[in-house]
Amino acid sequence: MASNDKKVIAVVGATGQQGSGVVRALRGSGQFKVRALTRDPRKHAELADEVVKGDLDHPQTLEAAFNGAYGVFLVTNFREAGIREFKQAKSAITAAKNAGVKHLIWSTLPNVEAISGGKFEVPHFTGKAKVDQVVTDAGFPHHTFVIAPGYYQNLVAFLAPHKQADGSMGWALPIDASVRCLHMGDIDQLGDVVAGAFMHPDLAGHGEYLPLVGDFLSFNEIVEILKGQGHDVSYMQVPKEQFARAFPGGAELAEMMGYWQAHTYLGSDSRDQIALANKVAGRKPTDFSTWSLENFKIHTE
Ligand code: NAP
Repeated sequence: MASNDKKVIAVVGATGQQGSGVVRALRGSGQFKVRALTRDPRKHAELADEVVKGDLDHPQTLEAAFNGAYGVFLVTNFREAGIREFKQAKSAITAAKNAGVKHLIWSTLPNVEAISGGKFEVPHFTGKAKVDQVVTDAGFPHHTFVIAPGYYQNLVAFLAPHKQADGSMGWALPIDASVRCLHMGDIDQLGDVVAGAFMHPDLAGHGEYLPLVGDFLSFNEIVEILKGQGHDVSYMQVPKEQFARAFPGGAELAEMMGYWQAHTYLGSDSRDQIALANKVAGRKPTDFSTWSLENFKIHTE
């Protein structure tokens, strides 16, 4: 396809873990012209076919960035925005609608409040779920919801093993390690689901939910896999209150893990949605042991 005939897809969060996989997969398909949005285009000039300024806190930048685009991939970043992410998402959806975008894909998460009957409060999940209705109401010709899993990559980042009181390297978390409740995946592969949905709006352009899930595990299984690969890792369950007090942000993580244990990460039997996501992506996502063999490392402090 000549480059001028290709549909333009604008990717929000293109410099991040979700968006960079989306850029990779869209470019790899050869079917799209990829426009990466970032707050600092000069720093990321080589990222995509076009790199433009887009700031979710400055909606006027978004309409220009979405102008002429067929599709938009939208993700917000709770870590920076907190509960402001609802406002950011709403302005981006309005800007996309005003720019005439035909297909919007929103990276959402389950509504913990609804699933747990209000027992657990996890704003970075539920806040995203509440945006779903805004996407639906906007009336795009096509829209899709993708669900990012717990990133495998977390286990070498903010959830990496730490030195424990007994000298071992491992995890001390407020979750029963025997409960299989973790829907996980290689976050780079969310891009395959997103690119597939843009290529097949017939299959997934009517508000379908597409979770990326490479594996469904308990912490005992994670530890067993890693030990089998030669990593000496330990796991200890700690009381929720102790974990919540241990560091800033601990309380929300503890709530989230309580929700996972009670309802699983996705919160319901999602096998049909996972099967559709894999079909749309045209691949089965990588399982944890394959990923960890190549990517897991322990950094001793
Ligand atoms: P990331 O790797 O931390 O990157 C953040 C991205 O957000 C960057 O590309 C940044 O772009 C962009 N961004 C931040 N503020 C922006 C703004 N005001 N305007 C425009 N762009 C902005 O993020 P990620 O992991 O891809 O996605 C984060 C989201 O994933 C969070 O909301 C989190 O809740 C969700 N999530 C995480 C997990 C997990 O297991 N970690 C699981 C599911 C969902 P520039 O800096 O280039 O402007």
